[in-house]
Amino acid sequence: MKIPGISRLRGVVRRVENRLAPSGLILLYHRVTELGSDPWSLCVSPQHFAEHLEVLQKLGVTVPLQQMNHTLQSGKRLERQVVVTFDDGYADNLHNAKPLLERYGIPATIFLTTGYMVQEEEFWWDELDRILLQPGCLPSVLSLSVSGRNYKWELSKDGDYSEQDYQYNRRLNWKKKNISSIRHSIYYSLYKLLYSLPKHERAHLIDQIRIWAGASTQVRPTHCTLTQSQMLELAQGELIEIGAHTITHPFLATLPSQAQQEEITSSKTLLEEILERRITSFAYPHGNFGSETKTIVQEAGFSCACSTTTGNVRKNSDRYALPRVVVEDWDGDEFARRLSVYGFVGAGSQIS
Ligand SMILES: [Zn+2]
Repeated sequence: MKIPGISRLRGVVRRVENRLAPSGLILLYHRVTELGSDPWSLCVSPQHFAEHLEVLQKLGVTVPLQQMNHTLQSGKRLERQVVVTFDDGYADNLHNAKPLLERYGIPATIFLTTGYMVQEEEFWWDELDRILLQPGCLPSVLSLSVSGRNYKWELSKDGDYSEQDYQYNRRLNWKKKNISSIRHSIYYSLYKLLYSLPKHERAHLIDQIRIWAGASTQVRPTHCTLTQSQMLELAQGELIEIGAHTITHPFLATLPSQAQQEEITSSKTLLEEILERRITSFAYPHGNFGSETKTIVQEAGFSCACSTTTGNVRKNSDRYALPRVVVEDWDGDEFARRLSVYGFVGAGSQIS
């Protein structure tokens, strides 16, 4: 639960800290697009993304991730720097984000989940959205056996989910759950049950849910991940660095070390083979890692790794657990206000 007084206090503490010592900031985006349903608030609209970039351009402090990393590595004073990153590897990063990054001349690192690049499928959380959160009829009861336990969900009034129901609920997300939407409560409880399972177990359960729903495996054009050739196109030019984000997007710390090794090194090797250049930046899926994970990432030859812990990057930050700030679909003014909390003041967007 968020207590307003506490978050205001945290903001004040951050401002004081930033006045005392210059610091960096790494922004975390996922998608630049507009969707009807966005249960994890992953999308920033192209209009808002352009406004963010305008604010950043005015600040004049954006640098590539590896430049910030070199400063940390050398132990030099960290100037005020902002880095833009994207996780997962959605196709809209090429179609919508890249042209805007080029327009404003702002560099970015895009962390790719390589398994989804070679296989034509939606991310599993998107597939659950397609099955559960779109309008249409579903059978009234869903029964599943997960890790030896039986679960049963009744859809009752939400079995028949009209376009009107969809429109009414579509703005719900992980922060604004509404228990009157049975579809959403099932979505989030399934996510909770499935996220830490090994990929094959999760895939097997999603197959069962898909069969129960009578749904296809057809990938929606709005939820495409980057293909190999699109990734090459994305990496062209000077502005975009490609980083690794594992093969299957697992919770790494839940895996045995051999499997962690495979996820981390194979995603790096594949990207290096395709791009014919070294891949040195890594981002932990779901921000999840343990001390062993960090060691594997380091030994695999990555020079830094991004987490999802919120905060500024400071001179003594761990280069294998760099904090980031998740960006939401804010307009330029709100984005500038959020940046000011982290010490980047004076970028009032004044968007016309
Ligand atoms: Zn991710």
